[in-house]
This record gives sequence, structure tokens and C-alpha cells, in this order.
Amino acid sequence: MKKVSVIGAGTMGNGIAHVFAMKGFTVNLVDVSEEALKKALATITKNLDRMVAKATITEEVKASTLANLTTQTSLNACADSDLVIEAATENVDIKLKIFKQLDELCKPETILASNTSSISITKIGAVTKRADKVIGMHFMNPVPLMKLVEVIRGYATSDEVLNEIMEMSRKLGKSPVEVNDYPGFVANRILMPMINEAIYTLYEGVAGVEEIDTVMKLGMSHPMGPLQLADFIGLDVCLAILKVLHDGFGNPKYAPCPLLVNMVTAGYLGAKSGEGFYNYALGSKDIVISPRFA
Ligand code: NAD
Repeated sequence: MKKVSVIGAGTMGNGIAHVFAMKGFTVNLVDVSEEALKKALATITKNLDRMVAKATITEEVKASTLANLTTQTSLNACADSDLVIEAATENVDIKLKIFKQLDELCKPETILASNTSSISITKIGAVTKRADKVIGMHFMNPVPLMKLVEVIRGYATSDEVLNEIMEMSRKLGKSPVEVNDYPGFVANRILMPMINEAIYTLYEGVAGVEEIDTVMKLGMSHPMGPLQLADFIGLDVCLAILKVLHDGFGNPKYAPCPLLVNMVTAGYLGAKSGEGFYNYALGSKDIVISPRFA
């Protein structure tokens, strides 16, 4: 495999493109938004600069990484890719449409992977004529730093494709873990109920943002509290995953907290929108609790 396309240049897509380009793959980064592509290239450049400053990589590696990257607004650019990784918005209709188009566009041997946090890989595979070559490659945020790739095997994914993607993940310097295709897979089936419970704890007035995050950081040795983590994941992404868990298992324990629903409806999506449980718009290096929760 040499040519990789990444669909979606948001929080995850820019990190996935960064990692593949740094390992010498030719990477097409595709997004419907020119603005998102510009922002992604700026983020990748900033992250590479930080790696150079820390002597993790050389200036030459930075230059070759950027040279390996091109940006596009059309899916047509994926036609001759060996691997396509979709990291577009967590919305089932958007993803099914993208995979149908990719299936028609790409050469027959192209492997189609999704970075979805929770949407069924089996369902995505079923809209293509190559369900054996559709797989989940669930990277963690921030992609250049996080070792885990949850590799999700859909009902029809072949052994060959699974092994190839496990091997490819190792080549990227990641630690892949194979899981089966059920709502939320493993990572979000365990993480999202914790985040949702933290939001309920705030909503019911048991404790404030700082207290909840401090309990989980100091008491459970979590590097970041659940409310801050939710802000970094994106509150819209958290809500979308909880809905998949709720629908998929039909169990009320996954019902999203009404406070989360309100925040997303109002456009308070966490770090990417400037405000969630914390305020990121003040330009301060120290994260400040949102005035609504102070
Ligand atoms: P994001 O909102 O930051 O970015 C999504 C990007 O997709 C946007 O730039 C948008 O313009 C683009 N997009 C939407 N429709 C498109 C289309 N039809 N074609 C091309 N681009 C399109 O979202 P994100 O947080 O990067 O999440 C992307 C995927 O990764 C989701 O499936 C999400 O569940 C998953 N994921 C997110 C995290 C996280 O921490 N945010 C972690 C692991 C996995």
C-alpha cells in the first residue's frame, strides 16, 4: 500500500493524514469544505513544528511529510488509492453516501475503512459491493500521539483485510486491537456512559465542573477529567455516539443527558467551537471553566 486517501479534514482527519504522510504514504486529504482543508494543513504544520522543536523529528521529515500531502474537495481523487479512511462527520446518512460513492469510484482492490466512533461497520459495508473489504480503523485523538487503533471487524470483513489493516497499523507505530462490530465497539461503549454520567452529575447539581473533573483525575488517575475530555472529543460527537448506543441496545441507561442535548443544540460543542464545559475562546493557555458553570 502506498496511496491513501482520508475523507474529512476535521479533528481526526488531519491527525490521520499527518501520521500516514509522516510514514511516507502519499496522502489525499478530502473535505467538502475548503475552509476545513486550510485549517487542517495549518494544524498539521503547527503539530510538525512542535515535533521539530521537541527534536522528535527533523526539519527534513517535516518537509517530506508536507510534500506527501495534497488536499482536494472531490472524492474523485480517491479512485486509485490503495486505502481510503473516512473520517467525516459522525452521521450515518453522510457515511453511507460516501461509502456508496467510494465503492463506485475506487479500484476493486481498494480497502475502505471508517474512523467512525460508533456506527456499524456491517451497515456501512452493506451499502457497498465489497463488504469483505470494509473495516473500522478507529484512531484516538490526538492521532499523532495516541497509540491505540481499535480495528473493527464487520460481519462480512475478510480475514485477509483484517490482517492487512492490523499489520498496517503496526507499521504506523500504533498498537491495534481487534474488536467485533457492536454499538460503540469497546472504547466508546465504556467511555461514553462515563462521560454521560459526569454530565448528569453536573446537571443534577451534585458537583461543579472542576469538582467532577478533579475527582476523576486525582481519584482514578485519569490524565483528564471526563467533562474536559468531552469538550476535546466534541459534544456533538459524544451526543451522536450516545444516540447510537441508545438505539443499538434499546437500553435507557444510554439516554443522553438533557444538558448535553441542549449544549449541542445551542452550538456549544467544546474546544472546536470555543466553548463547552470550559472556555477555549479566551486565548489563554490555562483552560478556564465556562462562565455558565463557574
Ligand atoms: P469534525 O466535525 O471535526 O470533522 C468532520 C469533517 O468532515 C468536517 O471538516 C466536515 O466538513 C467533513 N465532512 C462532512 N461531510 C463530508 C463529506 N461528505 N465529504 C468529505 N468531508 C465531509 O469531526 P471529527 O471529530 O474529526 O470526527 C470525524 C470522525 O471521527 C467521526 O466519525 C467521529 O465519530 C470519529 N472520531 C472522533 C474522535 C474525536 O475525538 N473527535 C475520536 C475518534 C473517532
